[in-house]
Amino acid sequence: MMDFTSDNTSGVSEKIMQAILKANAGSSAAYGVDPFTARASALLSEIFEKELAVFLVATGTAANALALGALCPPWGAVFCHARAHIFEDECGAPEMFTAGAKLVGVAGEAGRIAPSALRESLAAFPRGAVKQVQPAALSLSQATEAGAVYDLAELTELCRIAHDAGLGVHMDGARFANALVELNCSPAEMSWKAGIDILSFGATKNGALACEAIIVFDPAKAASLPFQRKRGGHLLSKGRFLGAQMAAYLENGHWLDNARVANAHAARLAAGLAEASGVRMPWPRQANEVFAILPARADAALRAAGVRYYDWSDRDFGEMRRDGEVFVRLLTSFATQAAEVDAFIALARG
Ligand SMILES: *Cc1c(COP(=O)(O)O)cnc(C)c1O
Repeated sequence: MMDFTSDNTSGVSEKIMQAILKANAGSSAAYGVDPFTARASALLSEIFEKELAVFLVATGTAANALALGALCPPWGAVFCHARAHIFEDECGAPEMFTAGAKLVGVAGEAGRIAPSALRESLAAFPRGAVKQVQPAALSLSQATEAGAVYDLAELTELCRIAHDAGLGVHMDGARFANALVELNCSPAEMSWKAGIDILSFGATKNGALACEAIIVFDPAKAASLPFQRKRGGHLLSKGRFLGAQMAAYLENGHWLDNARVANAHAARLAAGLAEASGVRMPWPRQANEVFAILPARADAALRAAGVRYYDWSDRDFGEMRRDGEVFVRLLTSFATQAAEVDAFIALARG
């Protein structure tokens, strides 16, 4: 079954599954004060070269919504890309966990917020104007929902604009590892050194069963999160299994190895498609997502062969699709097989 619908249609990586089994032996303290969780936090501190406050949760939606809840009052505004996961795909969880903050969609190519668009949006919400929500947070997705990656200069500039306006900055890093190996920089450089205050650090899509970390780079700003996580129903009683997943994910660079595999498959897929006649690539591939504009006959051949992937809307991405074409999103993961990629390319070439 060739499945390019998402990176979470894969299973759990062998190393992480083994770590879950190992953690299953015997008893361990409940509610996240176990040695597995302590080990995961220590590894994250080492990797990010900083003392951190770490909160493990089971879903990316919980990580994002709780992180925004820590940054933003109920009367606040969260600025994000108009196609951001928090804006489109979390069923109002960010609004709920902030107790009612407003999300403001900002434009930008390939899911990246453009600095000029951010400045314009901020100007529309003057500080102290009592009829309007007050700017509180900027949320950046790295990699973006279009598979693009902000470079360090772009991240730094956006964080500076936000901080100058008194906002905190959140990063949705559901695909943090895929972006990181693409930029080939350190985790610190792609986060707190660029100005990120709080990070949703994903593991599920890159090999874990269900585990994401909320990372607060200034632990003094994390005082409310233990209560918000518990109140939100995301403090797992058998929290050791989150700790075991995260520790195994990080140990010996497993997370980076998995991301490199996923990205390499995406690179191969994008290169193969770029050479197929009639196929157009809307923007360069960077992480493990490939967007392509296929001629209808190629789409039909792929569908007929049982290949799975999503048609995607190009709204807010420049509306590039013409009549007789299909705009598609293709995801690869650590579990993708090279033969699947090659078969896809062959079918698209017809
Ligand atoms: C998958 C994803 C998430 C997390 O989604 P969950 O299904 O809640 O785990 C968050 N942000 C982005 C950009 C994603 O792609």
